[in-house]
Parts: sequence; C-alpha cells; structure tokens
Amino acid sequence: MEQNHKQDGQSDVFAGFKTAFKSFATEAIHVGQEPEQWKSMAVVPPISLSTTFKQNAPGNHSGFEYSRSGNPTRNCLEKAVAALDGAKYCLALASGLAATVTITHMLKAGDGIVCMDDVYGGTNRYFQKIARELGLEVSFADCTKLEELKAALKANTKLVWIETPTNPTMKVVDIRACSELVHEQNKDIVVVVDNTFMSAYFQRPLALGADICMYSATKYMNGSICWCVCPIWVLGGFVTFLFSRLGSALGGVPSPFDCYLCNRGLKTLHLRMERHFKNGMAAAKFLEADPRVERVIFPGLPSHPQHEVMKRQCTGCPGMITFYIKGKLEHASAFLSNLKIFAVAESLGGYESLAEHPAIMTHASVPEKERSVLGISDTLIRLSVGLEDEADIIEDLGQAGLRRIHPSHKPQSPGCTSRSITHCEASVSLLQSWVRPYQCITLGDTPSFALAQQIPESLHY
Ligand SMILES: *Cc1c(COP(=O)(O)O)cnc(C)c1O
Repeated sequence: MEQNHKQDGQSDVFAGFKTAFKSFATEAIHVGQEPEQWKSMAVVPPISLSTTFKQNAPGNHSGFEYSRSGNPTRNCLEKAVAALDGAKYCLALASGLAATVTITHMLKAGDGIVCMDDVYGGTNRYFQKIARELGLEVSFADCTKLEELKAALKANTKLVWIETPTNPTMKVVDIRACSELVHEQNKDIVVVVDNTFMSAYFQRPLALGADICMYSATKYMNGSICWCVCPIWVLGGFVTFLFSRLGSALGGVPSPFDCYLCNRGLKTLHLRMERHFKNGMAAAKFLEADPRVERVIFPGLPSHPQHEVMKRQCTGCPGMITFYIKGKLEHASAFLSNLKIFAVAESLGGYESLAEHPAIMTHASVPEKERSVLGISDTLIRLSVGLEDEADIIEDLGQAGLRRIHPSHKPQSPGCTSRSITHCEASVSLLQSWVRPYQCITLGDTPSFALAQQIPESLHY
C-alpha cells in the first residue's frame, strides 16, 4: 500500500522519491516500548539508573548484570532503532565519534580503511590523526566515482566508510553501487554508512547493501540538539557478536537518560523530517533564485548533480543546504552575522535553524589543501533548516543578504579562526566538551588548562 507523506498537503516535494517505509511511525512509537515488559506496565520506558542487577544465584540473572554491558532503558532504544533501520541488531554508544572509534577498533595495525573524501570534520580528523598513528592505513576516495573507489581498494582493505550526502559539499553516493563493487572485490570488507544527515526515515543503508549504519543521533534522530549524545550503529548481521562485545569492552556507552531522550525524539522523527524537507526545499529554491548567490547545492533540487540517485535511494531529503555566496569571506561573514532566526552555530538537524561557515568552523581541522580540493572555500555557507515557519525562514535569508555589506565590515561571528583562539580558551572548551553526564573527568591540583595544553595542537578544534 502507498505509504504517503500527503496527509498535510506537502506532497509535491516528495514527488519522484522512494515510497516511505511501511509502518515507520508505528514502529518508532511502539517497538521496544511494550508496557508488558515492566511490572508497573509503564507506557513510557522508565529511566533505569541502577548500575548493577541482583542475580538469583551466581551467573543466574535476568539478562542484566552491569549497566555498561546492558541497561533496560538502552535496550528499549536499541530495539526501536534496529526496527527503524531494518536491522537485526543495534548498539547505542555515547557519541557519533564513540561509534566511529568502536567500529574502527575491529581493525588491526596494518589494515586499510578507504574513506569518502568529503566527510564530517571529526571523522576526517580521527582517521588522519589518530587511526594513522595507531598503524592503520587510511586513504580517501570520491565514492561518487566508482572507478576511484575501485582503485582505492587494496588487499589489506577491511573497512570502507561512506557518508552521504557528504558534509559539507552534499555529494550523494550511490550506496548500492558502492556496496556491490566493494563486496565483489572482497565480501569480507565492511561497508559503513554514516547516515546522520538522512536519518532512518529517509534512508536505509542496510537494505542497499551496507553492513553497518551509524548515526550521530544528536542530530536529526534525536531532534533537539541538546543533551542526547547517543549515536548508534546498526549491524547487518555477520559481525554482530564481535561488535556487541566491543561496545561493552571499550565502554563508550550512553547514559540511560540520554537513551530516554533519544527514544522520545524518535517518536516524532517522521513528522520532523517531512517538515525539514518542506522548509529546506523552500529555502533552497529561494536561494537559487537570489542573484547574490553563486550556486546552491541541495540534493532535493533537480540542479543537484546526483538528484536522480537521491530519488532512487531515499524517501526524502533533509534540510541541509550548502551554498556559495558571491564575493569573498567578508560577504559570507556579513551574511551569517546578519541572520536573526538562524543561529550561527555548529551542528545540525535540530528544531532550530542553524548556519555555519565550514572553512572556519566545522571543517577547520581538515587540512587547507584538502579543503580547497573539496571546494570548502571562504564563500561556502552551510544551513541546517529547522522547523520554524517557512515564511519566517525565507524572510530571514532575504534580509541577511539584502542588508548592506560594507567592505570594511568586521565580521563578528564567525570571526575567529581555529588558529586565533587562544590556547587556553581552546583547551578549556575541549575539556568541557569531554565532561558528559556519564563520563566525568576529575582533576586534582593540575590547573585544567595546563593539563589540556599537553593535548597536541592538531587535535584542537
Ligand atoms: C556530528 C556528526 C558526527 C559526530 O557525532 P558526535 O555525536 O558529535 O560525536 C559524525 N558524522 C556526522 C555526519 C555528523 O554530523
């Protein structure tokens, strides 16, 4: 039966896209949440804070022993996400990067990773600066060109890492074509798709041939860009056992409260994604018609080079837009500073519209030479279009571009480069970002900034 997105008259943006996954909303709301699993019959899964569970006799337990290796609230979330991804199994971890590290931990020194050339800045940094140091061989390839991917595969390749649409240049990768090519070469190579930009509602990588799908659930999956740092990866089957052990053995697990928040967010995912698409399409069309804009990259528009692939493999398009503004850095900075509804901030996928300057902000850790090859220039702006009223979003984009941009304009925000942040500021914020509810660092007499100064500068961000 046609599962359609037409209930509220938003039909046209979805024309030509894959039909929505059957019973998605019902599963998001009910799978893993069955009241019968609790003695209290709670309709909303309780937040289970106990770290240890009583055993009837040594080794005779109820399925839970110690919260790192299994927690009732986390179980609810893992079951729901596995269902939404059409997966057998899901493991929730404490952040997107915790998922990346856990997955990469399957490899041994000397093994090879082939990574899409344009990926999340933190993924790029982890592979280039940390995984390489640990003896892994990392190479990058533009997976939109199958011959480039094929040439990058070597005898020692164990992992292929795909992100689609890419961040920030929004290249769309044909997951099925890449998975087939890789598995033809060697069926044991694990194909991972970072599905953060799409969410489970718009794309199912496992059904397209990938082995693992991972998310930074802090973004669309959770929706409110607060607190929930509970990204997830989902397995296609064959390496499940190894992975489930690795999750507990490495310890990057999320807190039960984070799991509860993410679970709550999932229940509105379908509604939010439809609105993100509708608002994103309106903003992209507006920008495309604006003479001050050089080029808009939005996979939902026919002008996008891989628009056909997008329609073939996805059920919709998220609210992520990248565009080049005419002029120079000062024009991009002025545009960003002029915005009123859009907040100039990193991250994406929340209710609130956000705008950012990738070269200075999210992708500052990508080496400058690589940024220029990828087209991450001074005039590139990335938008995460939120859930506000469409007319207000358009008005904000219009007024930000219209307000006069003086040549002497002093950008306020984003005005500092990663280099110009003082060592101390960068260090302290780095430490703060580590302190999550479940993972506290306690410091003795050592002043925090002195300790942080020992962290190599290349890891500041
Ligand atoms: C944010 C993000 C990550 C990293 O996730 P964290 O939860 O911040 O660790 C990975 N991939 C993509 C595409 C992201 O946007």
